[in-house]
Amino acid sequence: MSTLPSPSPIDVTNNNDELTSFRRQLEEQLREREELVAELHPRAAPHIDLVAWSTTQSALQVVTQINAALLRIEAGTFGTCSRCARPIAKARLKIIPYADTCVPCHADGTS
Ligand SMILES: [Zn+2]
Repeated sequence: MSTLPSPSPIDVTNNNDELTSFRRQLEEQLREREELVAELHPRAAPHIDLVAWSTTQSALQVVTQINAALLRIEAGTFGTCSRCARPIAKARLKIIPYADTCVPCHADGTS
């Protein structure tokens, strides 16, 4: 039996390079989603273009999550699971920088 090593927390007390790079990544993804939403906006209605509408809905959901992640950076809680308060693995944050739950919580949760 081997246990997985506990992920090391991100140092959020300083504006370190790692945190800065996550912030840049989040801001970049935010811009991309906002551009997408603006582009699809004229036809993003279920009765006009269902694909554009559902793409817009999921992009707006991600925008909300990204804004929440940026607030967590400001608050110094970025990289901490919102459910169990354990550190979120950096590998997960590199793929989904706006993730607010760790892998185990995400796997057994509904969020
Ligand atoms: Zn958790």
